Amino acid sequence: MTGMTDQAPTRFPGLAGVQRILAVSSCKGGVGKSTTAVNTALALARYGLRVGLLDADVYGPSLPTLLRPEETTLYQSEEGLIQPLDVLNLKVMSFGWIDPEQNRGAAILRGPMVSQVVSQLATRVYWGELDYLVIDFPPGTGDIQLTLTQQLPIDAAIIVTTPQNLSFVDVVKGIQMFDTVKVPTVAVVENMSYFQCGSCGEKQRIFGEGARERLVQQFGFQHTFEIPLDPRLSQMSDEGTPLIASLPEDPISQLYYELAEKVHGEITRLQQENPGIPTLSYNVGQNCEMTYPDGRIIEIPPLDLRYACRCAACVSEYTGEQLLKKEDLDPDVYPTEILPVGQYAASVKWSDDHRSSIYPYDYLEERFVKS
Ligand code: ADP
Repeated sequence: MTGMTDQAPTRFPGLAGVQRILAVSSCKGGVGKSTTAVNTALALARYGLRVGLLDADVYGPSLPTLLRPEETTLYQSEEGLIQPLDVLNLKVMSFGWIDPEQNRGAAILRGPMVSQVVSQLATRVYWGELDYLVIDFPPGTGDIQLTLTQQLPIDAAIIVTTPQNLSFVDVVKGIQMFDTVKVPTVAVVENMSYFQCGSCGEKQRIFGEGARERLVQQFGFQHTFEIPLDPRLSQMSDEGTPLIASLPEDPISQLYYELAEKVHGEITRLQQENPGIPTLSYNVGQNCEMTYPDGRIIEIPPLDLRYACRCAACVSEYTGEQLLKKEDLDPDVYPTEILPVGQYAASVKWSDDHRSSIYPYDYLEERFVKS
């Protein structure tokens, strides 16, 4: 068995050259998530960043409508990875290009399959060197979305909403879902926020005031952006040339540049402040090691790590009682496979055939350093 300190490239061959992954998410469909994802991706690209865009909405892929690459034949590399398509300086991929009859395909996909298909789509596409991979998430905050955030190393999220009454609850649900897997929400986009009168310039808030004030008051959340309701946004999207591509100087395009700039700034700041995620590894006959990018190492004896498993078979879900007894374990138990889970945990397969699905890094740090 070899050391496994460099896990990510082997698990995600297509993502090896991707610097940051940005999820664009919404609680409901039809709020403008895809419109935001495509315009944000194009805005990031206009700053000279190398950007990919993955349409992860397998139920209703909209990228083939929003963008029209000249060449839509898909090619496979020697390593079996799919080459993304090129359009408007973006590398793009959608289930809609893989299965043009996607509606039939989507109808038979069940929840767990959806997250599998999407992570395969993300990880089996050869994205090459990218500063950002923007993922247009399937709408909702259920199991599919949660699993995706656990399977893919997502760095940050943008939540898209509309200013109706319930939007505050939607946004909080979204922030909380990403919070549970340690993915920071770097912006909330209130789409169709107002309609600007063509003659007097007044902003008419057709759907009400939205969640902006409450987000600031209750969460201190400052990064809220308003995009107006504008028929040109939908018209140009339908024609396959999103607003930023057709009218780069338009005031609404400027709003997307501002959004992209703030998101990039916030992610860069968070990455500088954050010491980074550790890597869990094991070399035969030695302790397991949790190694931080700054070189700090926490050593954990394999038996202790196995005993620290929190799965339902090892710890009662209802009472929290420890079910696994140390004396029942093979004293020489060791990891046979260690894989990262999102950006916040690792899963371990053991020589006794047990699989510990999630060891959050914070939990390991708490248990093996502070005790
Ligand atoms: P979602 O991805 O959330 O399902 P879409 O981005 O596909 O939503 O948008 C739904 C519809 O609303 C599309 O027809 C789109 O062109 C339109 N749309 C989105 N944002 C705006 C906006 N700010 N003004 C006008 N139309 C919009």
